[in-house]
Order: sequence, then structure tokens, then C-alpha cells
Amino acid sequence: MSEKSIVYWAPPNELISALSPSTAIMKTNNLVKTRLLLDKILDNINSGDKVGIKVHVGEAYNTHYLRHDYVFEVVNAVKSKGGIPTLIETQGLGMEARHRTISENFTISFGSRKTATKHYNTARLHGYTESIIGAPLKFIDGEKGFDAKIFEIEGVHLNKIAIAAGLFEFDKIIIVSHFKGHGLTCFGGAMKQLGIGCLAKLGKFRAHFNENLSINSKKCNISKCDQECIKVCPVNAIKIEGESAIIDPSICVGCLGCSESCPVKKAINQSFNLDFKNFTEKVVDNAVGVLSSYDRKNIRYINFAIDVTSQCDCVSSPNMSIIPDLGIFASSDPVAIDKACVDAEINAPGLPILNQKGQWTQPVAPGIEKFNAMNNLVNTSSFFDAAVKSKLGNIEYDLIKI
Ligand code: SF4
Ligand code: SF4
Repeated sequence: MSEKSIVYWAPPNELISALSPSTAIMKTNNLVKTRLLLDKILDNINSGDKVGIKVHVGEAYNTHYLRHDYVFEVVNAVKSKGGIPTLIETQGLGMEARHRTISENFTISFGSRKTATKHYNTARLHGYTESIIGAPLKFIDGEKGFDAKIFEIEGVHLNKIAIAAGLFEFDKIIIVSHFKGHGLTCFGGAMKQLGIGCLAKLGKFRAHFNENLSINSKKCNISKCDQECIKVCPVNAIKIEGESAIIDPSICVGCLGCSESCPVKKAINQSFNLDFKNFTEKVVDNAVGVLSSYDRKNIRYINFAIDVTSQCDCVSSPNMSIIPDLGIFASSDPVAIDKACVDAEINAPGLPILNQKGQWTQPVAPGIEKFNAMNNLVNTSSFFDAAVKSKLGNIEYDLIKI
């Protein structure tokens, strides 16, 4: 991939005098800019096309998710081309909400995107409803995230991919991403939406865990439980042998229901993937798999680099914005668009952050990688190195300002 890819960029709202002509003021509006950008990239949509708009509605208690107003503009842009838009999304890892006690009288539950029923509630809370946005929301991996199409791939780490089955119902896909930090991949944007967001639960499990779940026969003790793991397993992958349970990994769909419900500490072995390089390479394996299975020519990407926090929208407490808004980016190349966002993030001045002692920290200077400075376990380059090596897209780009 030697030729440069094109990335369109609309800078964020400019400061403009309230006395300026109204058209000039409107041209500074991020929503108007969204439509101008989409006009550049949605040249592939034909009248009657079923268009899936991949979104992330944000976790409950998260207040930095992508506001539904932006998605409303994407829906309207699709309709203006004669397309039939549907918002599409997949379930998060695990099955059960978790609870955290905040004070004596106040407990919050999070993990609000693990089944479609809960996920719809969270979507409603964040304005992602048909009555507000003008398009229905469909969970393309089904109620529990198990509806998958499995493809063989030749990845660096993975040889199979579990893509959300409903993805293939659509003629065209628009990947809508909120560009922000992420604890495992350093940042989240188009590549992560492809390599995690388009997968069914099994695919997400394989990226996040090093090995299949297994029973620790020294800890598992059927006299100390009601065999909750067996009751909860949706695919009958667990049975009792002697005094303990065993899991058949060839049947397990990685829902984590057994480990969430087992009352005996450490009875189920699970190896969460904390090797960040390995994780980014697996995400790239999956993203390449999606683009090999679903014609990459039919996918477009738009990244909103607005409210850029150091953590992802999957968490319920994402912290403060770490840089000023960078604007909106659009492209037909998932690597080029993410690289343009990261380059803009590096060049931007950091914002002061309030630390846990209530003191303002010194802002990170322009030219320094902000996400990396916030979380020195990961860096953006390992994600791009993997993407270039696997030919996911082009890291070279021409930036065209709108
Ligand atoms: S894994 Fe847990 S729930 Fe299942 S049999 Fe063992 S102790 Fe009981
Ligand atoms: S063994 Fe069953 S309950 Fe446990 S993760 Fe696998 S599918 Fe889910």
C-alpha cells in the first residue's frame, strides 16, 4: 500500500463573533461540518441500499460517549443518498452487571451493555433511540451476543474470527467512532471498532483472554455451591466429573457466565490478556478478518475526536478530557483515519488534569503522545505497527481540510 490514503478533516468549532452573519456562524458548527464531511465519503451509497451505521452507545454512568446528535447527522446523510439506515451495535464481554458501593446508601451497577435488553436501556438513556435519531437500533450479534459467523483467518495470533452475524445483512457499513484513549490499545477509533466492535462475544473473548476458561480442580468443590456454572452455561459446555466440574472448550462461547456466577474464589481459571502488544495484534487480526469477509470497499469511517478522554466509553468513569477537541475525521481507510487522529492528538497541547489530590497537573506539551503519557503500559505505535504489518490499511495519508 504505497499510495497515500485521503483523510478529510473538519476542525472543531471556531470562536466566532456572535455578530457575524448567521451562515458564517453555522459553518463553525460541528454538526454542519459532519454533514459536509459525509458528503465527501458517502459516494458509495446507492438508493435502496441497506446501510448499517456501527455505533457505540457508551456505558452507563459514562458521560463522555458520542452524543446522539452526531449520529443523527450520519442517519440524515444516509437518507439524503436514498439509503435505508440502521444503527448497529454488539454486546460487551460477560453476562452479568456488576455492582459498586459508592456510599452507605448508594450502589451503582455497571456492565450495562452485556445483553440486548440491558443495552437497549443504556442506548435509550444516551438518546440512541429511533424516535430521536430516526433509525432503528439493531444488535447484530443477537440478545446475548452469541449470533456469530465463524471464518478461518491467517492472523498473527488467531486462526478463526467470530463476526457478528447480522453485519452481513447490510449492503454498506459506516463505522462511527468516538476517538479517545483505551486501557488496552492506547486509543480507540476505527481499527478497534472493526477488530472488537464488529465481533460477537466469542470473538471478543478470544482477544481479551489468552486461553480458554478451565476449571481449577483444586478449588472447585461441588459441596460448596449449587453448581451455578452448569445452570448458567447457555451451551451445556460444563459437566461434573468426580468432585469437580470440567469445561469442554470446543463448545464454550466465552460468555464468562460461569466465572461470574461461581461462588468459589478462583475455581475457574481465566487468563485476561494483559500483554498489550499481543492484544493490539489480535485486534488487528480480527479487523483484517472483518475486511476479508465483508467487502472493504463498502465500508466508510468517521471519527469524532471530541471529548477526548484517556479511557474508553466502555468504562463508567472515563475521567476528564486530556486535549482540546480535535474535530471530525472521515476516510475510507481505517488505518489512515486513526493515524490522522493520533497525529493531531500528539500535535495538540494537553489540558491540565485534576489529580486525586485535587491538584491541577502540568499539561502535556504539544509533540508528546498524550495517551502514552497517561498510561505508560501501552503506546500508539504498537497498534499501527501491527496494522501496517498485516496490511489493514495505509499509514500514509493526505489530510484535506474541509
Ligand atoms: S466451578 Fe464453581 S459453581 Fe461450578 S461446580 Fe465448581 S465451585 Fe461449583
Ligand atoms: S463454559 Fe459456558 S458459561 Fe462458561 S464461558 Fe463457556 S459458554 Fe459461558
